[in-house]
Amino acid sequence: MKDTKGDRVPKWAESSTSYGEWAVRNGGEFSVLLLSWFDRSARNLPWRLVRDPYRVLLSELMLQQTQVATVIPFYERFLAQWPTLQDLARADDQAVLKAWEGLGYYSRARNLLAAVRAVVAQHGGEIPSGERELLQLKGIGEYTAGAIRSIAYSLPAAAVDGNVVRVFSRLTETAWQPADPAHRRQVRALVEQLLPANRPGDFNEALMDLGATICLPQNPACTSCPVQTICQALATKSVAQFPEKKPSREKPVEQRTCLILTQGGKVHVNRRPDKGLLAGLYEFDWVEDLAARLPDDFLATLMERKEKLGQKRHVFTHKIWLVDGNRIELPIPDPTANIGSSDPFKTVENSRWVSTDELKTLPFPKVLTQWRDDLVVALTQV
Ligand code: SF4
Repeated sequence: MKDTKGDRVPKWAESSTSYGEWAVRNGGEFSVLLLSWFDRSARNLPWRLVRDPYRVLLSELMLQQTQVATVIPFYERFLAQWPTLQDLARADDQAVLKAWEGLGYYSRARNLLAAVRAVVAQHGGEIPSGERELLQLKGIGEYTAGAIRSIAYSLPAAAVDGNVVRVFSRLTETAWQPADPAHRRQVRALVEQLLPANRPGDFNEALMDLGATICLPQNPACTSCPVQTICQALATKSVAQFPEKKPSREKPVEQRTCLILTQGGKVHVNRRPDKGLLAGLYEFDWVEDLAARLPDDFLATLMERKEKLGQKRHVFTHKIWLVDGNRIELPIPDPTANIGSSDPFKTVENSRWVSTDELKTLPFPKVLTQWRDDLVVALTQV
């Protein structure tokens, strides 16, 4: 099928969707405006200095659900510690979790390790450029695969995340929801048609920048927007209505009580199981776990010795923890002698007393790191 100028009519032009019509009218101008803005105003980000697939993979995994400003120092430290994919594939799991400490969503670090090890084992150490092969690697979904293919390999692949859906929802006045997979597929088809063959990586990065710095979720900076002249929602003053809001479901809140047990300069820690929430990370004790195994009166006596540390809030994807922190210095000698157990604080297999030097090397979830760091300072000053 040809249009009047003899060019192939793109797929979406054959549909009667409003976004297809928008693309027919504005697609060419959109790419020109977006890329010339990118040439003038691209963010200066460390992972853009060298475009190799390992750096794209590393940065994209770190950026999932995390702000750019938070990621930058982690990315730089990580790359200094493991400059190549092969270095990372050989790394010790605990050292990688430790380097990830503070970034949150630790499954990303475990997926990254699994992915680079699979690349070494199955692809000779070269991150593949095919979408099918990339999607078989842990932690790599369509967005990250598209980013690697377009940015590192200059292939015409779309990289559509919630930000990109939001931008096109407004540009085309389409009621897309950023988290809806069907809507993402529609936006992906649209982006694939708009991608310029000579600069697919720049195009995707420009879209990322537009979503992150101009077309913000709240109060978009439309007067500074490089594509304001072709934005349908702006023209009809309906920007606030796009993208479509998903009815929000309240996350359940779990109240937890953390006990930081110390004794003569040692600290009691538990390593969480290798699977499940915060897998493989270290933590202190939880009253909820101890209550199931310790005699009530012993626990009550223990709690009388507590020094309150305040409360922390930790938001997971599916729930919220509200954690009350307490430090308890146990008496010396063995406080457990009178209850007939060698270690009543043992809640999981990997449970032990550690020195402050070792404590510093163990990866903890973000919700506990400040109390851990304060404790190291307090014990070191004694
Ligand atoms: S004009 Fe406003 S709403 Fe439209 S794309 Fe630009 S920032 Fe987003």
